[in-house]
Amino acid sequence: MNGFVVASRNGELGIGAAIEVLRRGGSALDAVEAGTRLVEASEADTSVGRGGLPNVLGEVELDASIMDGSTRAAGAVGAVRDYQHAITLARRVMEDLPHVTLAGPGAERFAAALGMDRTTLLTPASRELWRTHMVERLGGDAEAVRSLLALPDRADDEPAAVAGHVRRMLDPNRNTGTVNFIARDQDGHIASAVSTSGWEWKHPGRLGDTPLIGAGNYADDRYGAATCTGHGEVTTRCGTARSVVLYLKLGMSLVDSLTEAALDTETLDDPQSGGIEILAVDRDGGYAAVITGADRAEQDATFVHQSTDMAEFAVLPRRLISAEAPPKPR
Ligand code: ASP
Repeated sequence: MNGFVVASRNGELGIGAAIEVLRRGGSALDAVEAGTRLVEASEADTSVGRGGLPNVLGEVELDASIMDGSTRAAGAVGAVRDYQHAITLARRVMEDLPHVTLAGPGAERFAAALGMDRTTLLTPASRELWRTHMVERLGGDAEAVRSLLALPDRADDEPAAVAGHVRRMLDPNRNTGTVNFIARDQDGHIASAVSTSGWEWKHPGRLGDTPLIGAGNYADDRYGAATCTGHGEVTTRCGTARSVVLYLKLGMSLVDSLTEAALDTETLDDPQSGGIEILAVDRDGGYAAVITGADRAEQDATFVHQSTDMAEFAVLPRRLISAEAPPKPR
């Protein structure tokens, strides 16, 4: 059986490494971790790992999760500072602890205990984007800017100010992003990995869908796997990744399962949501991806795929799913 990997478009950076793992006879779990690590290490990607855009206080907080479809073991970390490979930390939670999810200081404590390298996640370029946006959104309110710059040192004293600044910093055209990887190895096992710096300018401690197993990530060899990007508040409320796998379990096709799960999110009234993407595979080796939100789809509606017998990855289109014109059931 040929192994293969699918990833969100920004996963093109790591898909070659993931395929190499499979070519050497490695596991799907090792493949998705290897691919994700390269994206996390890239400063150019401002939505994942080092170089990710920060929270409202200018601090980068990472979320990640990994799931092994052969056992349905899972690990996740949320709101992690100072450690760039959140995906490896999530895997160690899965393998070394009797837990699924660690967040914030507890997750950082675990990373330190493992001897992982501490690093500065905020790059000068991401800091500049934060500062520029802050000045723009706070509309020349110099006192607000000054207070925001000072808040990291005295955040405990200013909870109301922080919440207010999050609302004022909301960007209607915000750029979102996360990396998704799903791999199937030569033994037919499936694994999935998701990593992100989350919603930029978010409230400190905000967890998106990425570290919530069932929301942004789910894998089960018996049916398939699904991973999400985009507005995590709606995929969290719908349990989107698990929904796709459950629809597969109920006998729906891959495309119908993705469509149904995407339409579930469209029924929520969330004015902040510009849309979501879901990437999925089924147990027979099928793969597909969808997107909601026409404006979002105009920016980029693609994903990448490579199997072990392909020299290069292929860029493939996502289907646009809209509640106004739902596709006919097939
Ligand atoms: N899903 C991520 C989150 O909500 C962000 C994104 O993919 O744009 O944190």
